[in-house]
Formats: sequence, structure tokens, C-alpha cells
Amino acid sequence: MKYDKSRIKSIKKPPREGNSFFTRLLTPLINILSGKELIVNHMANSGLCGPYTLTSENIDIIVTRISPGAYALGYTDNSGTFIIQYVGRSDNNVNNRLKSWVGKYRQFKVSYFNSPKEAFEKECTLYHDFGGTDNKEHPARPENSYWLCPICKIFG
Ligand SMILES: [Zn+2]
Repeated sequence: MKYDKSRIKSIKKPPREGNSFFTRLLTPLINILSGKELIVNHMANSGLCGPYTLTSENIDIIVTRISPGAYALGYTDNSGTFIIQYVGRSDNNVNNRLKSWVGKYRQFKVSYFNSPKEAFEKECTLYHDFGGTDNKEHPARPENSYWLCPICKIFG
């Protein structure tokens, strides 16, 4: 059997892909550690991701997309349960909306949605399931929309 010497030589060459090592191995690790990867995984089942401490820095790390979204604000009690105090949504930029609450609540959970209507429906479901104590009224729909709450008949 003949060896193809040129091929062996090329295989033994030291890798010159310093950048790709970083890109392929370290970038995903950094994404996981920083939470970016986590939020992508959670999008698949439409659950809320978190809780995270409510700071502008964390919001920028976790909520990297400009997107409609729904969120819950609250705190973790001594038994480790996340207590929801307020639920809300943004029709266009959930990152921005969350930042308006910094200093008023301790932690947040969040999820992106593909449309404002989906974010609204999730907000309604959260409102009915968990009833944030600071939500004095049923979530509102935009004027001139005909969106219906998936749980109750308030708009029906
Ligand atoms: Zn409702």
C-alpha cells in the first residue's frame, strides 16, 4: 500500500486556527455562562427565563434582542420560590420596558415573543395564573385591536 506523503504532511501541520478555536469553543461557553444560551433554549417551550437580578447590566446580557416580550417581576422567597408581584409585556422592546422597573423590583423573568399579540396573550395567562399583587387591572390591549384574552371574557 502506498502512502500519500503530501497528505500526511498536510495533516501533521500545526493548526493555524487560533480564531476559530475561540469562536467554536469559547464563544458558546461564554454565552452559556452569561445566560445568552439559556434564554435561547427556553424560547422553545415559551416559558419565562430566569429569575435574574433586575439590573440594567443583567437586562442587557439576558435580553439581547429588540423584540416583543412578556415578563414577571418579583423576588425569590426563603423556600426558593419565585414570587410574582407584577406581570407585564412590551409590544416592541421588552429590554427597554424592563429597564423602566430597575430599582422597583428585585428580580425578573422574561420571554421573547414573535408578535405583540403573542406577548399580550402570555401576559394575560400570567396575570390569571399568578395574579401579580401589583397588577390592579387586567392587562390592556392596544386601542383599535380586537385581541381577546385567552382566559377570560373581559374583551368578549
Ligand atoms: Zn383575562
